[in-house]
Amino acid sequence: DLQDYDSETESVCPFCGVGCLVSLKVKDGKVKYVEGINGPANEGRLCVKGRFGYDYIHHPHRLTKPLIRREDAPAKGLNVDPGDLSTHFREATWDEALDLAAKGLMDLRAEDPRLVAGFGSAKCTNEEAYLFQKFIRHGFKHNNVDHCTRLCHASSVAALIENVGSGAVTATFNEIENADVAIVIGSNPIENHPVAATYFKQFTKRGGKLIVMDPRGIGLRRFASEMVQFRPGADVSMLNAIMHVIVEEGLYDQSYIEKFTENWEAEKAHLAQFSPEKMSDICGVSPDQLRRVARTFANGKAGLIFWGMGVSQHIHGTDNSRCLISLALMTGNVGKPGAGLHPLRGQNNVQGASDAGLIPMFLPDYQTVTDAGVREAFTQVWDSGDFSHEKGLTVTEIVDQVYAGNIRGMYIQGENPAMSDPDVDHARAAFAKLDLLIVQDIFLTETANYADIILPASALYEKNGTVSNTNRQVQRVRPAVPPPGEAREDWSITTELADRMGLDWGYRDVSEVFDEMKLNMKSLDNITWERLKTESVTYPSLSENDPGQAIVFGDGFPRAEGRARFTPAAVIPPDEAPDADYPMIMTTGRQLEHWHTGAMTRRSRVLDAVEPEANCSLHPRTLKLMGVEPGEMVRLSTRRGSIEIMARADRAIAEDMVFVPFAYVEAAANILTNPAIDPYGKIPEFKFSAVKVEKI
Ligand code: SF4
Repeated sequence: DLQDYDSETESVCPFCGVGCLVSLKVKDGKVKYVEGINGPANEGRLCVKGRFGYDYIHHPHRLTKPLIRREDAPAKGLNVDPGDLSTHFREATWDEALDLAAKGLMDLRAEDPRLVAGFGSAKCTNEEAYLFQKFIRHGFKHNNVDHCTRLCHASSVAALIENVGSGAVTATFNEIENADVAIVIGSNPIENHPVAATYFKQFTKRGGKLIVMDPRGIGLRRFASEMVQFRPGADVSMLNAIMHVIVEEGLYDQSYIEKFTENWEAEKAHLAQFSPEKMSDICGVSPDQLRRVARTFANGKAGLIFWGMGVSQHIHGTDNSRCLISLALMTGNVGKPGAGLHPLRGQNNVQGASDAGLIPMFLPDYQTVTDAGVREAFTQVWDSGDFSHEKGLTVTEIVDQVYAGNIRGMYIQGENPAMSDPDVDHARAAFAKLDLLIVQDIFLTETANYADIILPASALYEKNGTVSNTNRQVQRVRPAVPPPGEAREDWSITTELADRMGLDWGYRDVSEVFDEMKLNMKSLDNITWERLKTESVTYPSLSENDPGQAIVFGDGFPRAEGRARFTPAAVIPPDEAPDADYPMIMTTGRQLEHWHTGAMTRRSRVLDAVEPEANCSLHPRTLKLMGVEPGEMVRLSTRRGSIEIMARADRAIAEDMVFVPFAYVEAAANILTNPAIDPYGKIPEFKFSAVKVEKI
């Protein structure tokens, strides 16, 4: 009986960056079911994760008490049974666990503050992300703090800040209602942003021209006017060829370029060498199709460009985004209805966590740590001394320094790098070396296997605070149920830890943190805790009555002289080429039912029932050549390691490729992935590894 519930609470779906608003129906202290409600991003819609993926919060594996590693525990490794933690950990009181954690951190700090680093989380709220970066900067006086944006859209943000002056989207995805052409590249929204995809489908139904570009023939191709299936890693050659045609045929918007941009002449000269005929062999797209796509996009009245991690997760990820920015600028497609740049965000609060400064080079609102005036503004609010002007280490750099013994203590909140890092056996070996690993999470994640102290935290449906979605919409999350047992909200745990280290924070309510954030975040101007009780607000909001600006930069850019920049991009091959030993190409990603490292969705009854087993996808002809039937096991090997995994047939994948979801610990895709990083965004090349596929 769907009417039989005790209470209902409005909150935000905890999974992808679309930020669907939900109503949680609670019966007997448990969430009984979830309904979509009329949020600005979802208008009542939900995908299968939002609709059925709520029950992980009641899973028996939830951490309910602080835990301390036993002195007689086996050596650190991926060796703890999540159903019986007593072999490795003993239960402790909060006082004991927090005192031990604070003492351990202070002992390391006394030796050298740089012995400690932190990973915060895009699964937490804006306030929790803000406090986490403050914890490292205030407590340890350096910037060695990061989160999963480094593995997601760091290269997109680097290119956007460089060329547009802001790391967020220039238009909401709902603006597709006003577009007549749209590009979706390196993104599989039907599986990864399913509610956003419903708007894309409606757009094509109204006659909008959808250009889908991807090495895989993803589901959205069924709605596309052009499906451009290009070679993995060949984004720059393809995009430069498209822009070459726009220049050659004079399809660019000269008046927009003159009014709003710089460096056009250099870009134009650079593009001269990228004719479709020359690039076709590199990118695997015919000159005819490259020309057709160029004309379709440039001749549209208003065009949007959406991209995902197929673009960002390369050693040339920043260059890929630079090309997309140039394409939008040269066609005058920023700052007007139906036009813009939109990297689709993966985690539900990766936008907000980045905005809140949970990154090693930027304080909140992307204010650089190298600027003494910026640091002073924060230290005044924090009532603290100055901290380092040096940009901090990123996720993969921190792990390397842990492995090298230069970082000996870590505080990890809600991240699972022992599953999500590239070449993850290296990361796991690094975590085993730490003198002090404090993990704050809701489950015994793979990373928590290596912990010395585990602090039981809260799931999003147990939290109070705000999150910001891919559209820059700031929305309230509210607790439908309390955290189980002695688990606590993350902001209060970080505050307790800070207070025990003598930082004297003393927040009593999460709204106090939000109010503090507003002091140095102009993006939150006109957005108040009070307003957020009844509405979602898109930043920037120009007044207390303005619901926020869906489109930005119509009258110039937040860069010198208000101009955006063209940054030419050269063709750089992937870090490792297929060869006789590893002849195929592996790419990784997510599936509709499972989200990221699987800690939540694999503990959801319905989602796990629909997609219970680790699997990879290969073209049916490739399987036939190998003598493998769909459903049989194969071995995948790269220069980093091997996994055994069930093979599926998928005609959408190229014959020399294999696609591997990264949610499955029993066949962890990241054992195989290449840790080579983009020099600007410092993002690893998850999307291209040379691989050998064998029948077992
Ligand atoms: Fe949740 Fe994203 Fe699905 Fe919306 S589209 S219900 S935010 S997972």
